[in-house]
Amino acid sequence: EPKAEKGNDSLSSTPVLRRINLTVEDGEFMVLVGPSGCGKSTLLRLIAGLEELTGGNIWVGERLVNDLPPKERDIAMVFQNYALYPHLTVYDNIAFGLRRMNRSTGILPVNPGEKIVQFKEDLLVRVTKSLPKGLRYLSEREKAVQKQVKNVAQLLQIESLLSRLPKQLSGGQKQRVALGRAIARNPQVFLMDEPLSNLDAKLRAETRAQIVKLQRQLGTTTIYVTHDQTEAMTMGDRIAVMNQGQLQQLAKPLELYNSPANMFVAQFIGSPP
Ligand code: ATP
Ligand code: MG
Repeated sequence: EPKAEKGNDSLSSTPVLRRINLTVEDGEFMVLVGPSGCGKSTLLRLIAGLEELTGGNIWVGERLVNDLPPKERDIAMVFQNYALYPHLTVYDNIAFGLRRMNRSTGILPVNPGEKIVQFKEDLLVRVTKSLPKGLRYLSEREKAVQKQVKNVAQLLQIESLLSRLPKQLSGGQKQRVALGRAIARNPQVFLMDEPLSNLDAKLRAETRAQIVKLQRQLGTTTIYVTHDQTEAMTMGDRIAVMNQGQLQQLAKPLELYNSPANMFVAQFIGSPP
């Protein structure tokens, strides 16, 4: 079959996504699957605000976010290739987003499940040379950042790695740090685009379990893209199957096996293991 030429013309005439009507329930873990090129990453990037919407609407809770920049959407996205800041330690990588949070509102989530802590004004205390080594005064804000980094590190079991640089970490450790950075801000929505595909099978299974546990603890609404059937079937509350820019079916894992909406879904999902 003839393939459309890549370029602006074909891009504008052939939409990547069509007639997608998708509602993710509050607290749900939704898995998005489909063949390469069907538009999974594009859909996530649109939700995150990293791609421009040419039609339709995206709501996060009560908010229409179509025109909001990514930073204001309260969404965290984790990519396949971690994208850690190479010159920052693990601690600072996780703290980075927290430090950039809106100073005027000064709201920082502290413990998953715990209520939100309201900052007082920043109390900046000078660090002088005469202080004993290791003793530093931290601003109120920095104290809250520190507390949250520690919570997250504990949750992901990366406490012993906090002073390392990304190049001193294994792939799995890097991916845990990337997860930590995303969850530290306690976003309303997590988007994960094949976050485990760079890991070996054993580590993938471990990290997969950890992500599910974390998501259950935090109750954060999640969309998780994978091409791994086991992952899809074991992780998802519901699974969204896409093909060629269209949503084919959205159902619980067993429903997909038992009553696939069409031939494509039946073939793509296969039979139960
Ligand atoms: P994979 O499983 O391989 O990651 P995917 O489902 O994530 O695939 P997308 O990356 O969303 O697929 O791509 C969907 C379609 O949009 C593909 O046909 C791709 O070639 C096209 N596409 C994506 N980004 C661009 C872009 N920046 N410019 C032109 N075409 C693009
Ligand atoms: Mg993709």
